[in-house]
Amino acid sequence: MICLGLEGTAHTLGVGIVDKACNVLSNQIEMYRPTVGGIHPREAANHHAQRIQPLLMAALKEAGVRLREVNLIAFSQGPGLGPCLRTVATAARALSLSLQVPIIGVNHCIAHLEIGRKVTHCKDPVLLYLSGGNTQVISYAHGRYRVFGETLDIGLGNLLDKFGRQVGFPFPSGPHVERTAREGSQLLPLPYSVKGMDVAFSGILTAALNLHHKGSSLRDLCFSLQEVTFAMVTEVAERAMAHLDKEEILLGGGVACNQRLRRMVATMAEERGGEMTVPPPALCVDNGAMIAWTGSLMHDAGISMGIEDTVVEQNMRTDSAEVPWLAQPVS
Ligand code: AMP
Ligand code: MG
Repeated sequence: MICLGLEGTAHTLGVGIVDKACNVLSNQIEMYRPTVGGIHPREAANHHAQRIQPLLMAALKEAGVRLREVNLIAFSQGPGLGPCLRTVATAARALSLSLQVPIIGVNHCIAHLEIGRKVTHCKDPVLLYLSGGNTQVISYAHGRYRVFGETLDIGLGNLLDKFGRQVGFPFPSGPHVERTAREGSQLLPLPYSVKGMDVAFSGILTAALNLHHKGSSLRDLCFSLQEVTFAMVTEVAERAMAHLDKEEILLGGGVACNQRLRRMVATMAEERGGEMTVPPPALCVDNGAMIAWTGSLMHDAGISMGIEDTVVEQNMRTDSAEVPWLAQPVS
């Protein structure tokens, strides 16, 4: 069984090819980078439309697979930016119809969790999913993946990107914030914004930019941004672990590449007698391999979709999806 997965929820276009054992035969990623400002959904979608054919060819070549050897097409059905989702779904439908193979729409957030579970060999983790658009604490409970905490406004990666754009870092800014933070040491006063199990970042962005305009050191600002926001998400993730009585924490999303975040979460997990796992960077960021793998799981569990079921869902919720492949989730 060869599954080809298309990812296109936001600025990243991904084409991944996996086999039945989740060997990643290919994982091609190309990111739309706006020349000025943030992501314009239509421009990102135009990028995806222009680049999908060459990226598909590159993925097939890397995998050593011919198009007619593909048995299943999976695509990111949501959540995400409407124009991007629709563009990539259209490509997925065209491939499914022309190759006459089944098509499966995949929940993007669940795909981060499933690829992490597979490649890091954790069984029943709490996923701390920190990306540009999403910030969620997800875990399996009572027959579904459920969200135990999330951002009430922007994603953590988006906070770093928005801050970076204002202070002159290139996009995406997360790695530049990380590098600059290594030279900072003073904790500046930023709001610590945890509300129950949820978090909010836009007030922190405003406070950080105010400090920047007043002349605070950029190094200390990057250091403080990381310390405060990473502590917030670590706190909520720890509470989810305690509440659910789970010992594994899995990181996902582009912010999971950050070494300071990893150290903070790993320390929390170790102090609880648990363990943190992180997929390799190419499987942390948005990618087609995770969509292909989750599509395979869904297909093998008997889920099938007609073309009429492939309408994209911009606001698709993690707990709206049935997860029959987890009928016996943990041993
Ligand atoms: P994703 O949306 O999952 O593809 O991840 C992209 C996001 O991850 C962007 O907001 C980046 O700024 C952020 N990111 C990437 N690398 C790092 C890093 N080393 N530290 C913090 N954030 C990062
Ligand atoms: Mg993502």
